[in-house]
Amino acid sequence: MSPNDTFPGKPSSIPDQANLLHEFGEEARDHLDHIEPDLLALEKNPADLEKDVINRVFRAIHSIMGSAALVGLETLRDFSHLVESVLLRIRGGELAPTPERIDVLLGAVDKLRQLIQAGPSGGEVDLQRERESLIALQGRQARAATAVVPGVLAPSEEPVWPEREETVAPDLTLGRSVLVVEDNKIAARLLCQRIEAETNFTPVVAHSLAEARQALEDDRPRFFVSVLDLNLPDAPDGEVVDLAIAQRLPAIILTATFDEAVRARILSKRVVDYVVKGGLKDLDYVAHLLNRLESNQWVKVLVAEDTRGIRENLKRLLRLHRYQVVTAQDGEQALRLMEEHPDVRVVITDYNMPGVDGLQLTSRLRDRYSKDRLAIIGMSAEGTGTLSAKFLKSGANDFLPKPFLNEEFHCRVSQNVELLELIEKIQEASYRDFLTNLFNRRYFFAAGQERHGQAVASQRGLALGMIDIDHFKKVNDEHGHAVGDQALRHIAALLGSMFKGPALVARLGGEEFCVLVPDLDRQHALLRFNEVRKALEHSPVKAGDLSFGVTVSIGLAIFPGPSLDDMLRRADDLLYQAKARGRNRLVMET
Ligand code: GH3
Ligand code: MG
Ligand code: MG
Ligand code: MG
Repeated sequence: MSPNDTFPGKPSSIPDQANLLHEFGEEARDHLDHIEPDLLALEKNPADLEKDVINRVFRAIHSIMGSAALVGLETLRDFSHLVESVLLRIRGGELAPTPERIDVLLGAVDKLRQLIQAGPSGGEVDLQRERESLIALQGRQARAATAVVPGVLAPSEEPVWPEREETVAPDLTLGRSVLVVEDNKIAARLLCQRIEAETNFTPVVAHSLAEARQALEDDRPRFFVSVLDLNLPDAPDGEVVDLAIAQRLPAIILTATFDEAVRARILSKRVVDYVVKGGLKDLDYVAHLLNRLESNQWVKVLVAEDTRGIRENLKRLLRLHRYQVVTAQDGEQALRLMEEHPDVRVVITDYNMPGVDGLQLTSRLRDRYSKDRLAIIGMSAEGTGTLSAKFLKSGANDFLPKPFLNEEFHCRVSQNVELLELIEKIQEASYRDFLTNLFNRRYFFAAGQERHGQAVASQRGLALGMIDIDHFKKVNDEHGHAVGDQALRHIAALLGSMFKGPALVARLGGEEFCVLVPDLDRQHALLRFNEVRKALEHSPVKAGDLSFGVTVSIGLAIFPGPSLDDMLRRADDLLYQAKARGRNRLVMET
């Protein structure tokens, strides 16, 4: 056995590997028991090929292969793959199911059985020898895989998806479930576990085309997207994809067979993406993709393209991935639309357009929107020569030559979106306090100065409350630092919930908080901050079985004065007075 035969991936998200392995063994043995008589029948009567016997054998091997990969049995998977490729050639009519070949296949079934019995740790199979005998059987170069999924491969009539007129807002009527169609029970279960653990979606499983049809008939609107296995007992040729497409349910395709031809044909259909089953990484990818589709609903993309057909195609591709889409026929209109839709995050622009071209559009947009705020992807059929450099120099984040693969298009767009999201997250983290998630000191000073300037200019009220926990040292001393942290989080959450809108709530450091509230006069400030003090007094901190009360003292400055620093100094003095007068009280400027 190869050293790869260990359990890969995230053991924490996969409960009970031993159980899984056991289940796999049972299922695989079951399959093998069915294969044997099938192969023997085929040997007796090769015409049975028409009767789907080889399909049954193929599906069984295919299922073993998928599960073996999932439980981390790489040798087994490789071996099944070899058997599968021979079956594919027989199925594709390239090889006749002669008795000799059937004999080798039966031998292979035997070896599979040995491998399964040996489990992940042993097994004396000369894989190299088996490989040679199987390869010898395969004959000449073959394109068997193209014969695997005729349903998908056939350039069938594609139903037109009626586009919703309005595509600039998330469709909140969309369901929260994912239809998982997968006949392999282990694979289905793992996928569902992953979906439950890592996404906000609820998986609904169907093990066959019939079950999938039923699930859709029962309640189509609950589904947001589907994850579909191409090989099902009652739909061996990807018929389930057509079902999803007819129901206008976006489909992510799962397949065990990696082949360029299959990939191209599948992606030419209206599917979201194509995932080759091969282990736990692919489950990660599916979960990632589902999360991506969910967040894409909130991402607005502007397409500037003068050729109608291409424009519509780009829109269709983006809609398939659930983006909000705005389209412009030229640079001029794109600039106007950007005013109308300031929340556009990605602009995809053609180069050759009447009036303002793609390069001009890019540099004009870049003057107004920074790279961490708006991603621009240039696009042109004029080759990659100097144009891509020109686009990048004008401020584009990326360039895509036409024609492009849909897959590459999606990857580029989502990569750019993910980069923006990452920057946003980092920015967010840089102005939040790690423990309480309130604003940190640095952000408080920057944003507070702005609020102060506005208050001075508008002559409106501005209240600054300095809040300090009473005898907090005792909390740490009595209950430990972790409980102290919990108390800080508790108070922070309460403060955060009591001040919304333009108020700034920050943790200045240690057990000291600061709240800056614009447009608050003396009287209302007194009321609000006294409410805060009382609320904290009556809301005990809970940590495990512990429950204890804490109080705070508050110094409240209400006149804007010459600067924020000055206000802070005054509030601090008042806080000191509140402590001196016995704590759990508020002292306000007179
Ligand atoms: P006073 O009523 O006068 O404010 O008394 P106090 O004990 O609250 O004030 P003091 O400044 O003497 O002590 C503050 C304590 O807060 C000391 C420090 O260990 C604790 N503290 C500061 N930051 C943290 C933190 O992040 N987590 C925890 N658990 N404790 C912290
Ligand atoms: Mg299957
Ligand atoms: Mg204190
Ligand atoms: Mg203190």
